[in-house]
Amino acid sequence: MAVPTADKVQEIREVTRIERIGAHSHIRGLGLDDALEARNVSQGMVGQVDARRAAGVILEMIKEGKIAGRALLIAGHPGTGKTAIAMGMAQALGSDTPFTSIAGSEIFSLEMGKTEALTQAFRKSIGVRIKEETEIIEGEVVEIQIDRPATGTGAKVGKLTLKTTEMETIYDLGQKMIESLTKEKVQAGDIITIDKATGKITKLGRSFTRARDYDAMGAQTKFVQCPEGELQKRKEVVHTVTLHEIDVINSRTQGFLALFSGDTGEIKSEVREQINGKVAEWREEGKAEIVPGVLFIDEVHMLDIESFSFLNRALESDMAPILIMATNRGITRIRGTNYQSPHGIPIDLLDRLLIISTVPYEEKEIKLILKIRCEEEDVEMTDDAMTVLTRIGMETSLRYSIQLITTANLVARKRKATEVDVDDIKRVYSLFLDESRSTQFLKEYQQEFMFNELSQTDTGTMETS
Ligand code: ATP
Repeated sequence: MAVPTADKVQEIREVTRIERIGAHSHIRGLGLDDALEARNVSQGMVGQVDARRAAGVILEMIKEGKIAGRALLIAGHPGTGKTAIAMGMAQALGSDTPFTSIAGSEIFSLEMGKTEALTQAFRKSIGVRIKEETEIIEGEVVEIQIDRPATGTGAKVGKLTLKTTEMETIYDLGQKMIESLTKEKVQAGDIITIDKATGKITKLGRSFTRARDYDAMGAQTKFVQCPEGELQKRKEVVHTVTLHEIDVINSRTQGFLALFSGDTGEIKSEVREQINGKVAEWREEGKAEIVPGVLFIDEVHMLDIESFSFLNRALESDMAPILIMATNRGITRIRGTNYQSPHGIPIDLLDRLLIISTVPYEEKEIKLILKIRCEEEDVEMTDDAMTVLTRIGMETSLRYSIQLITTANLVARKRKATEVDVDDIKRVYSLFLDESRSTQFLKEYQQEFMFNELSQTDTGTMETS
């Protein structure tokens, strides 16, 4: 079975990282202290302390890696940092823990069935930490360990560290060491020295049998087992790939390229079963371990009843990731049914969720977030302009006011200023409408638009199917 190598995995990760720069690039973690209390401003995070603290508790559970199939719902008004908190969790987990982020509506737009899209998202969020043995590359420092197998306590007799500038020498040395082992009749527990130049082994005596005695003579207790008389040259590399990456590589002839293009198509269930079996085998042999990652589904109310029932079932698997969902909806219709439910999520799924709620921001918090965004976007702003922008944030939305930062900076640069001032903010405020002014505009001029009859029947609640 093919598994991506460490180099290739690294390349894939780079691509994902680039995608994440954007609205949340100022978020570097959850900003918690050691006692998991939220610092008011830390790691790009401002306020929302209860939600961040709750997220921190979940994070600890994830980091321990022992839990699977937990689901979390972050519910709150638009622009109250739900996505930011999920991103903060992703940052805090580090790059070795898989984190997948999708929007609920995405699963309808891919060229594959809904459950396939969700299955892929699930499997992208499960890491398999694989211990791989690689060939020695020239120029690297390697350790050659000599082992005479399975007589009594393990029969580990020595190791030698060499720089592999000349591969031939190493093989040659290894051969000599093996000959020497036989000649000197080295046994388990013997203390030996190895001559670096000739590979000759000299027996010094026999005095230890226990692991700590090995330690005492500066040897490592972790030795490589190898068949009798054979020199083992190994280097162990540990890297994490996702189940999805293994799926794709094994289901396509050009598997690895498909990972780059994202054009992975549907994956046959037989392939997945085979991979699950193989991974289970590796786990038993101690060659691999499962790293449950995080699947974040934003706008989860956009999923339909079939998808919710899929989630309910998928969470039961012992290879399920931690599922984090976010929604800004109140009581609304569950897509694909005529039933209403809190957040548009069926009650049976809601019942198994831990729910975190976010609260609207106060003025000083909005100001702090705007300041952080200015730094992130490399924009200098006068105090007065910042005060005006904060007011706009309070009266319209945080997101709208964040959007004005870069646009106002462009206007300031046009007039050759280095700092954004009040007039620049005013200018972009009049150029770009926020949601309520845009709605107002539509109401006034609706006759001029196409399909205006639709907006007459709709009074503000958005149709989601
Ligand atoms: P929606 O319900 O509309 O999806 P949301 O609750 O997911 O909104 P975000 O997208 O997280 O809101 O927040 C909007 C913007 O404000 C983002 O750029 C986000 O990074 C930033 N932001 C929100 N809350 C905070 C916070 N507490 N600290 C720092 N930045 C924040």
